[in-house]
Amino acid sequence: MSRTILKGGMVLTFINEAYEATKIQESDILIDNGLVEEISPFIQEEQGDEVVHIPGQMVIPGLINAHNHTLTTAVCRGMTDDYNRENYGGSALYTRVFPLKRIALEILNEEEIAAILKMALVEMIQSGATTVGEQCTGKEFGIFVDLVDELGIRASICPMYTSGEHLPELKETGKIDIGERKKEMEVLEENIRLYEQYQGDGEGRVEIWLGPHAPDSCSQELLMETARAAEELDTKIMIHLAQTRIELDKIRERFGSTPVEYLDKIGFLSSRVVAAHGLFTNNEDQKIIKDNQVNIVHCPQVFVKGGMIAPFHPYMEKEVTVSLGTDSYAMDMMAEMRMAALVGKLHTQNAHSVTASDAFFAATVGGAKAFGRSDLGRLVEGQKADITVIDMQKSHIQPVAIPVINLVYHVNAADVSYVFVDGKAVKTPQGIVSGDDRKIVDDGKVVSEKIWAAARQEGVL
Ligand SMILES: [Zn+2]
Repeated sequence: MSRTILKGGMVLTFINEAYEATKIQESDILIDNGLVEEISPFIQEEQGDEVVHIPGQMVIPGLINAHNHTLTTAVCRGMTDDYNRENYGGSALYTRVFPLKRIALEILNEEEIAAILKMALVEMIQSGATTVGEQCTGKEFGIFVDLVDELGIRASICPMYTSGEHLPELKETGKIDIGERKKEMEVLEENIRLYEQYQGDGEGRVEIWLGPHAPDSCSQELLMETARAAEELDTKIMIHLAQTRIELDKIRERFGSTPVEYLDKIGFLSSRVVAAHGLFTNNEDQKIIKDNQVNIVHCPQVFVKGGMIAPFHPYMEKEVTVSLGTDSYAMDMMAEMRMAALVGKLHTQNAHSVTASDAFFAATVGGAKAFGRSDLGRLVEGQKADITVIDMQKSHIQPVAIPVINLVYHVNAADVSYVFVDGKAVKTPQGIVSGDDRKIVDDGKVVSEKIWAAARQEGVL
């Protein structure tokens, strides 16, 4: 593999997993064999086969989007904003998101599914993300793995499974179908089969996790078997936790406890668990999450759309590992960092409670910790060369006094110039390396409109 030098940038990174150790320095970076070999103020150009000149540009670790459903992005954009959410506890999931996804999977062929997934993944890469934690819903699993390979990014992927029969009243309305009723354990067995088929694909950039949907949509037995299987496979579990009021009510009704207490009681919680949201949690729940080393993925934007605030500071205070995820559209990690910092302040009514550094830490080191990857999330020698470069010479960014402040509050996705994964450029100022940006968007748009047309016919929209 060729040796690449990034020349003349300003490196902004946390240098260890301790929170305070952030650093910015004018440095060159030598990439060799997919790893950061050297970071120093002056690396001789002759040492590299290729030199990328980035004077004055900011160089940060590739951002980690720790929780996402990529199909949702292109299918639901504009369909849940300013939307009346009176039904189902303020959530748009059951009346908009799930039905639209179901229709997409019913009417689209593989090529069409690939078109919308690709458009969404390109949006994510263009915002500086190099790694995604993806929970797929159905037949797009293999297509997603192929796209990760083609686009050159890194992903931890799981299917989203449920026990089916736990949502009968929603099924009766005809508004939801998040999985056919299946015999218990078949869904987990299928996930294990996907693990065996795809783990390590994409030259090692693909990891397969287990993906139970949520505490209320999976039976106790299924959850316990999932925890056991994760241990056996030595992999992670992605789950939604304390996400909706419906979940809270159902678990209280069935087990007389909160979702977090329930999962703790059945032995489900551990550092293997990457739990999206943790929205409806009390102080005791948050302590249980900390004691069990559960990783929380904070996805502020999707909740703000519903008039809700996801907690960030309460977890930070308790030293829970918090990462950031987009969950749905927009798949823009720059916007999500900004949203995390701003909403965090609003939540606590304190300007110092959640800072730009906190958001940047969650999007880099926090994500790497959640994924169990000590070789990601930082730019230090020996780490994977997953790198995002930002053009700072813009009127909305200059002048720069405190770089992390400008990064989180002023940089937009369109300012990202290069994205490298495993030392290879996946995006340059000319566009996505593996395809034509314009064609990717055109193709994705046509397919999205086809889904909406079918949804209108069915009365979903
Ligand atoms: Zn989710």
